[in-house]
Amino acid sequence: METTVSSDALITNIAVLTSGGDAPGMNAAIRSVVRSAAFYKIKCFGVFRGYQGMIEGSIKPLGPRSVNSIINKGGTILKSARSDEFRTKEGRKKAFANLQKSNIDAIVVIGGDGSFTGGLIFQQEFGIPVIGIPGTIDNDIFGTSHTLGYDTAMNTVVEAVDKIRDTAISHNRLFFVEVMGRDAGHIALNTGIGAGAEEILIPEANMGLDRLLQSLKRSKKSGKLSSIVMVAEGDKIGKNVFELAEYIEDNLPDYEVRVSVLGHMQRGGAPTCFDRVLASRMGLRAVEELRKGTSGYMIGIGNGKMTLTPLDKAIKGESKIDNELVRVSEIMRL
Ligand code: ATP
Repeated sequence: METTVSSDALITNIAVLTSGGDAPGMNAAIRSVVRSAAFYKIKCFGVFRGYQGMIEGSIKPLGPRSVNSIINKGGTILKSARSDEFRTKEGRKKAFANLQKSNIDAIVVIGGDGSFTGGLIFQQEFGIPVIGIPGTIDNDIFGTSHTLGYDTAMNTVVEAVDKIRDTAISHNRLFFVEVMGRDAGHIALNTGIGAGAEEILIPEANMGLDRLLQSLKRSKKSGKLSSIVMVAEGDKIGKNVFELAEYIEDNLPDYEVRVSVLGHMQRGGAPTCFDRVLASRMGLRAVEELRKGTSGYMIGIGNGKMTLTPLDKAIKGESKIDNELVRVSEIMRL
């Protein structure tokens, strides 16, 4: 069995960092980058606290044994951060100087579109190759059907809503459940179907208050004693989840209305098997692409296969919701 192969010598030292919001599966991706680098005899460094740590020189070598027992852990052992200083040329200069001290000649950025934007600017300014791995629970990145953490977050939400449903049924209540998704309704749409929600409100479509009210009235009339309405943070009706609930309570007095905002619990927890496998595949491919001389691309997944998308397209492109899922959700609420 192959255990290591010789390095092509183009890339000898790489750095990996996690940036932006944390997501389950980031640790599995770090582990994969570190072990894939070791396989190819490339030295790997971990940058702590994202771009801010790069500016501050918080960079340490990582070997295959530094990433033991992390594949099953949520969060990120490298920590994550948002760095305003990296948005300035001066900040990026400091960051590059720190990479040079360790002779780092390429970086793998695990994060969302903001992190990719920073990485692309950095690559353009200093000529250092950058490969992106999409890590964000919202799944709002073009060029991949799944971002790291999305599958875990959906499973966390479904489990929580199943529990909420138990109390909703016992008290004949209508629950508004707010889930993450400022710009994309992927979590709300999929978990809404998975947890059997009566209505799903997403940023991509403006259902309108009146239609929502009529639909809930119909559902009540049809004999439903409890209901769940999934609301993505960025829903387009223009009211927050508490205002929505108040409006429905005022206009549908038969129901006792409650609100549950799931919040940050959606980001945490052990990654699902899907996210662990995806992270392992993406990390390996990222290292292999750097070795081949690829730069400025994001690793993604489409139809079960690894894909490459230019970072600028991944940043600017829209991750569209699947209209088939919208149709399924509409029919399932009957
Ligand atoms: P999430 O999807 O979880 O929000 P993200 O990667 O989009 O993750 P951001 O906070 O948007 O998170 O970006 C992370 C970091 O990337 C920023 O704190 C900043 O350091 C860097 N960054 C973002 N945009 C730019 C930019 N235009 N120029 C330089 N750096 C940037």
